[in-house]
Amino acid sequence: ATPMSVTVGVGRAAEYGVLIRNAEAMQIAASIDTVVLDKTGTLTEGKPQVIDCRSYNNTTDNHLLTLSASLEQGSEHPLAKAIVNAAKTRELILSTQSEFKAMPGYGVTGTVDGHQLVLGNQKLMALGKIDIAQAESDAEAIASQGATPIYVAIDNQLAGILGISDPLRTDSVAAINRLKKMKLDIVMLTGDTETTAKAIARLAGIDTVIAGVLPDGKAAKIAELQQQGKRVAMVGDGINDAPALAQAEVGIAMGSGSDVAIESAQMTLIRHSLHGIADALQLSAATLKNMK
Ligand code: ADP
Ligand code: MG
Repeated sequence: ATPMSVTVGVGRAAEYGVLIRNAEAMQIAASIDTVVLDKTGTLTEGKPQVIDCRSYNNTTDNHLLTLSASLEQGSEHPLAKAIVNAAKTRELILSTQSEFKAMPGYGVTGTVDGHQLVLGNQKLMALGKIDIAQAESDAEAIASQGATPIYVAIDNQLAGILGISDPLRTDSVAAINRLKKMKLDIVMLTGDTETTAKAIARLAGIDTVIAGVLPDGKAAKIAELQQQGKRVAMVGDGINDAPALAQAEVGIAMGSGSDVAIESAQMTLIRHSLHGIADALQLSAATLKNMK
């Protein structure tokens, strides 16, 4: 039977916007020493915007954006939505894409207006053997301000690069500070590139960054931390976070996140704020104390 104090604790948590699936989760949460956070949509707003567009080799910015957005109409990824929105803002007329292929953790490929497109991160360009040397300094400039560089190749030639920025949630810094005061280890876990991840981590006040992780690699990273003796709370919002949420001692989903993430987690933060993590852990500790 569930102790009375835990039932009360679950109710109190709900008042703080933390939905707890079962009483056991609250007891486990009291023993957490490490909080791992996904970047996009968790630490950040999850509403990325194109802030930079640079084209090379006789491609124009508008041509680059038109083809990119036409292709990304096939993707559900937040970065894809940013690219489509940027094209719409410029009132560009999009074409239909064909042979669309999403490669989670890499990007997308397909055909638009008879052109073969490859659009995504450095890893995808390496897979497609596309030379990106020309974009090196632009990519660095984009990433060092915490934006994500997205390369675009047209017919196997680098045609340009987009810079996509997703700002921190306004209260992420304060929420991370609270977790630090609770003597918890804080780790960022992301599929984004290291330079971008580190720039955002610095703004958020996070020292430990695990970047460039493929979608199916996040759970393995949690398991590694657990093998080091850590007791982990994982916080995420995406489909790609779901296995990691399940692997952690406690999975915490953002209420704005995908259904799969919410189903994989024991706790859901229905207020769009990371303060819910500290609230949940503190209420769990207080609840456990009441049981003793
Ligand atoms: P995160 O862990 O930050 O939520 P993902 O695993 O979803 O990131 O994506 C990792 C990286 O893969 C992105 O930063 C981007 O470089 C690339 N990527 C994935 N999907 C797309 C897409 N539809 N368009 C462009 N790039 C993409
Ligand atoms: Mg995410």
